[in-house]
Amino acid sequence: MKKYLQSKEDEMLLLLERLVNIDSGSANKAGIDEVGGILKSEYERLGFTVEVIEEPNNGNNLLIQYEDTNSPEIIVVAHMDTVFKVGTASERPFSIKEGRAYGPGVIDMKASQVSLLYAVKALIANKRTGFENLRIVLNSDEEIGSPTSKDLIEQQATGKKFALIMEPARKDGSLVTARRGGGEYSLYVTGKAAHSGIEPQNGISAIDELAHKIIKLHTLTNHEEGITVNVGLIEGGESVNTVAPTAVGHIDIRINKAEQAAVLAKQIEDICGVSDLPGTSLRLEGGIDRPPLVKTDKTIQLLQIIKHVGNAIGIDVTDTATGGASDASFTSVAGVPTIDGLGPIGGDAHTEKEYLEIPSLIERTELLASVIEKLSTKE
Ligand SMILES: [Zn+2]
Repeated sequence: MKKYLQSKEDEMLLLLERLVNIDSGSANKAGIDEVGGILKSEYERLGFTVEVIEEPNNGNNLLIQYEDTNSPEIIVVAHMDTVFKVGTASERPFSIKEGRAYGPGVIDMKASQVSLLYAVKALIANKRTGFENLRIVLNSDEEIGSPTSKDLIEQQATGKKFALIMEPARKDGSLVTARRGGGEYSLYVTGKAAHSGIEPQNGISAIDELAHKIIKLHTLTNHEEGITVNVGLIEGGESVNTVAPTAVGHIDIRINKAEQAAVLAKQIEDICGVSDLPGTSLRLEGGIDRPPLVKTDKTIQLLQIIKHVGNAIGIDVTDTATGGASDASFTSVAGVPTIDGLGPIGGDAHTEKEYLEIPSLIERTELLASVIEKLSTKE
């Protein structure tokens, strides 16, 4: 399959250029649907059926599988959205310099889209099997926590034997076998305004109340247990000489184990349920909605298979854990052994320095195709 892929490198880079040069930030429905449209016709040309799940306010999600398939065993998830705003692609379009490709979303994860498509093409062109064993979900909103695709992914994952998630490999090429879970809260505090020079005794400071809450919330952090509660953003007050009538704290939550979610959520609700300063009122929004990706025994078995496949084609497969979130959480919570980071190698995602290591485009596509074939081979 390597020869085939090598002969297609220019074509792959052209498709990548085309996809990168379409802005598809999570809020940009038109852009995401344009990317989806290109991929839809590519898959259809290969004999795949593409079901478009229309989303009125977000990009559409796509469900793809080979037309003659009835019960595929492998779910593959790849998102089409990026974190970049409209105009980014024209500001700094796709470019290539010294073996690396640049541009918005190039590694996270437009190169993964190209890789997945060409893994399928390589299997078909080389008369291999496995492509008919795929249920592919191309989703539109991973970068904002998958609000429209989370349930879809869980539902599609249920009953599958394996889940392959197409986030990029780490800078050193490692796959991802563990991710922290988490969520976000916002705490809105209302107090009472008063001139701090003339009648301060009539005011109730929302900032003062929020300060109490921040200190209490931060005591919930437990590094050994992998629990992080971070009030990372605050806003509040009206002027320096006004007792603050309002304040907001935005809280990022990370956990290592699924069972930590309920306990921690209760602790946060308890803290934010009672005012420290009489006369202030509190409103808490949000929740812990992202389960962690857990490296289970079944994940380790899946990793071993991938390592063997890698060995056979000269790739030393390593794995690692990361704190960042992805859709791997949702296949993992559905009980499916999940490996993430199956996209090409690159780094600096979500920044303007984001890059793809071009040689990895072929290397990782060959790995992916070989893994899909191996996982579909009945022993
Ligand atoms: Zn991503």
